[in-house]
Amino acid sequence: MFSGENEVQCVKRKLLLEALGTFRYSTKAVSIEESEYFKLTEPSLRPRVVDQSNNSSATIKVSKFLSFCLEEVGAKRYIMEEVADIVIVGAGIAGLTTSLGLHRLGIRSLVLESSETLRITGFALTTWSNAWRALDAVGIGHSLRQQHQLIESGEGEIRCVRRKVLLEELERELPSGTIRYSSKVVSIEDESRHLKLVHLADGTVIKTKVLIGCDGVNSVVSKCLGFKPPSFTGRSAIRGYTEFKGGHGFEPKYMQFVGKGTRSGFFPCDDQIVYWYFTWSSTSQELEDNPAKMKQFVLSKRHNLPDRIKAVIENTQLDSISSSPLRYRHPWEVLWGNISKGNVCVAGDALHPMTPDLGQGGCAALEDGIVLARCIAAALMKTGNDDDNNDEDRVVMFERIEMGLKKFGKKRRWRSIDLISIAYMIGYIQESEGKIMNFLRDKILSSYIAGLLMKKSDFDCGKLTTIS
Ligand SMILES: Cc1cc2nc3c(=O)[nH]c(=O)nc-3n(C[C@H](O)[C@H](O)[C@H](O)COP(=O)(O)OP(=O)(O)OC[C@H]3O[C@@H](n4cnc5c(N)ncnc54)[C@H](O)[C@@H]3O)c2cc1C
Repeated sequence: MFSGENEVQCVKRKLLLEALGTFRYSTKAVSIEESEYFKLTEPSLRPRVVDQSNNSSATIKVSKFLSFCLEEVGAKRYIMEEVADIVIVGAGIAGLTTSLGLHRLGIRSLVLESSETLRITGFALTTWSNAWRALDAVGIGHSLRQQHQLIESGEGEIRCVRRKVLLEELERELPSGTIRYSSKVVSIEDESRHLKLVHLADGTVIKTKVLIGCDGVNSVVSKCLGFKPPSFTGRSAIRGYTEFKGGHGFEPKYMQFVGKGTRSGFFPCDDQIVYWYFTWSSTSQELEDNPAKMKQFVLSKRHNLPDRIKAVIENTQLDSISSSPLRYRHPWEVLWGNISKGNVCVAGDALHPMTPDLGQGGCAALEDGIVLARCIAAALMKTGNDDDNNDEDRVVMFERIEMGLKKFGKKRRWRSIDLISIAYMIGYIQESEGKIMNFLRDKILSSYIAGLLMKKSDFDCGKLTTIS
């Protein structure tokens, strides 16, 4: 089949099957169309395999060696290569908000999620005025307000939102097929200056013009931009939520308890559900993963809580308790780091992992999504040309995208630094021990901290228009 400069080897069928890592069952390749790639002598060849049984076809990237063997083995195993204009890694708060923001602006994206379904870690989160502005911008604020109580705070809008409900609302508004589950991104490489190749764990390779990393604290994309993994703060958290079928009877208020190097908070989400968290200083990131022991641990540290509050923890089902080490990115790394590089950028926890002391990580991820959608849409619309078939068009398109992502980085850098730093400082003050620190915190700093919480939530990410 190949000759001249191409490699021809005789291979044992069994050895070849073992060497190939990627499978697609029930897919019989019935013909391989010759393409210009066959004439090239580059390291990879891309024949087009046509499956006439279901009229589908796919361009497959195979090495010279594998393409030679394709016919030999009936082409039942190969590496898929696909194309998507905008790829978002991670179907969490940041990824889904960005995708929905783009959709509202008439732009399609593909969201790759490693889990089999929406990943709901942490059960609930506090959402402040800034989050509600972002939720209104993507058009799901009204529906979420119907399902979550307003927490009495005197100013601003605070609600404790169930993560499941939030992510499902975002997903519901997206065109079907936008999120692709069980798609873990393992590496990223350049195909050319204009295109990135996104490699998935199942061997699929997706070619894209824009790559957005919303893949959380352990982000693969932020690593590719040069960020180090986030640092452990020396603190950890246990979170839970409790459902009271007949109603919990608490007023819609935030209840916080601090002291002895620990901190805990209780928020009603609606009439029946109370979300709670407990944070403490811990030397190790290796946490207890037995929920019964986690519950016992929290109760042992919080034995002086009022009985009604203690009952919230006692009544928590074991599958509604989880623990996590608290990590953050040093503010100076965000200051000097690449929030974007060429056609790649990061948002959400992939950009600004922070301690939960301001309750702003998820809210900032919502802000990111709106700003980023606007910046990308403005960049793509300015090209005024969907066809980038020639080199000149491709360069123009790439430069617009690069500028759009840089603009996003510029808009989000100081906001990220501010939130990370203030959250860390508040956590430090709240969990410090000692008589002097307790006095300062309880008598002087508490109203200052309350003021900071409100001030940091008073941020408007703007609406979804293409003027960025
Ligand atoms: C104890 C605690 C309490 C908190 N409380 C609050 C609060 O009250 N209010 C608030 O606003 N924030 C809070 N936060 C912060 C908030 O949880 C995060 O900031 C928010 O979830 C970040 O969203 P994200 O979409 O950036 O990342 P994530 O929610 O982590 O989503 C990332 C997604 O990417 C997927 N993914 C990861 N790697 C890959 C890969 N390689 N390929 C494909 N998919 C991948 C994951 O499966 C996941 O679905 C808290 C955090 C903690 C730890």
